[in-house]
Amino acid sequence: MGQDWESKILRISPADELTFWAGLAFVFVDYWACPKCYKLHHFIPLDLLDESLSRHPPLCGVDLSRGAFAEESYRLQYHHIQLALKFSRLGNSYYSKYLAALMKKHTYTDASTRDLFSKSYTAEPRIIDSRFFLREEWKISNSIFSLVDTIDIHRFLIPVCPHLRIICGGVWLSRRCKEAFGRISKHARAITGLEDGIESALAHPGQWISVSCPRCPTDCDIKVSKGLNKVKVMAWHDFGIEGSPLDGGWEAHVESGSYTDWLTPGPTLADRNNSVRNIWSDITRNR
Ligand SMILES: [Zn+2]
Ligand SMILES: [Zn+2]
Repeated sequence: MGQDWESKILRISPADELTFWAGLAFVFVDYWACPKCYKLHHFIPLDLLDESLSRHPPLCGVDLSRGAFAEESYRLQYHHIQLALKFSRLGNSYYSKYLAALMKKHTYTDASTRDLFSKSYTAEPRIIDSRFFLREEWKISNSIFSLVDTIDIHRFLIPVCPHLRIICGGVWLSRRCKEAFGRISKHARAITGLEDGIESALAHPGQWISVSCPRCPTDCDIKVSKGLNKVKVMAWHDFGIEGSPLDGGWEAHVESGSYTDWLTPGPTLADRNNSVRNIWSDITRNR
């Protein structure tokens, strides 16, 4: 790179430092700015050679994924999003194979749920107006029993985002746990949007129930079949533009490490009227 960047950044704040590195990463094709190390990493396209986001360790040795709550088979990381936005901006001549692997639709079927239950998960990334969007879908079914009786078991943890998520192993118990924590904490109110949505969908089978996260740009639709034995949950996330993780796109979606992001009184988003879902739907409809 030919310049002594280290000495130049001694006088600026950590946030400005990260913005500085992100600015350099915007220009230099082979580099990306790491939000954990606060420096540039050289890009080596190793972690997608098998076209899986789950099997390789992070490029720099630290976890840059959304956190432990996220669906295990799809470990989308910060640098994946930044590199996808950059290579898309530069056109297909740069690392087109890597970009194609990043943007590939991913499907996972839970083979352990044999006999009566089945669970499938789909993740579909897309770049819309220079922003990185992700659509996720969970389908859970039971070939015999109603889900009303069986929804409160561990396999139905549906990790939509760090805030819309079931804890304590089931919808009913999750609500009780969150409310108990909420009573202890003076400044916070537990987010129970996913619990509300699933319970409402169970009470109104065949109807889509919409929920939006108050803390991150994520929208969610839930539907239970009329036979009460199938549930479908769809989620749309907006991970923002190419730039510093402090610009608001990435950080809002990441688990803080305390596992209680559904309780912490962080910044709240204005009512978005399902804006993330609507942007995705408009693009899909107009194609
Ligand atoms: Zn790093
Ligand atoms: Zn959220």
